[in-house]
Amino acid sequence: MTAELDRSRRYLKPVPRLPLPGEPNETHLGLYGWEDRLDAWVTSSPAICGRSAEQGDLPMDAEVTCPACIRRRPQYESVLARENDVPPVAARVAARRDPRYPAVRDTIRCYGWNDGSPMVPGGDADLLATRVMAAVRARETAQQPSCGECGHPQNQHGEADDPASVGQCRECAAEPDSEDDSWHDYEPPGA
Ligand SMILES: [Zn+2]
Ligand SMILES: [Zn+2]
Ligand SMILES: [Zn+2]
Repeated sequence: MTAELDRSRRYLKPVPRLPLPGEPNETHLGLYGWEDRLDAWVTSSPAICGRSAEQGDLPMDAEVTCPACIRRRPQYESVLARENDVPPVAARVAARRDPRYPAVRDTIRCYGWNDGSPMVPGGDADLLATRVMAAVRARETAQQPSCGECGHPQNQHGEADDPASVGQCRECAAEPDSEDDSWHDYEPPGA
């Protein structure tokens, strides 16, 4: 059943109630993710409504009956969808090379819980810093004026070292095009 699930993602999964007297007879929703430490898929407890729940082997499409879990489901789904919306590899590599990346990562790392343990441990801090940096870079690119010659953002255009030659547009250069017209300086739009 878990064969088609991606271990780098988290999912929502129906979870059974605790077998305790007085516990409402409802099926809850828990966050479901791969735990390297346990080498297994596990559901979080508490469920998303805040009640403790059992680990259980309910199917992914079992009916959820807890009203609070049902109410919170859309909010969790949109968070998970954004979590899973991973930037392309090239954008993640570029984000880690960004000179601002170390400061973002160190800022994330310096936050701890009251007991001194990090809020975002080890590799998770790198992952989060990469995602933050990639989002900032994507926003900056979206705000760049586009080139009058090729339409690509200004910051994709490199300057030539020597004033007699021309610069190059990195996005044009990356396009699989037989005609290489990437060699030009950035032109302001409408020029
Ligand atoms: Zn619930
Ligand atoms: Zn251009
Ligand atoms: Zn271009």
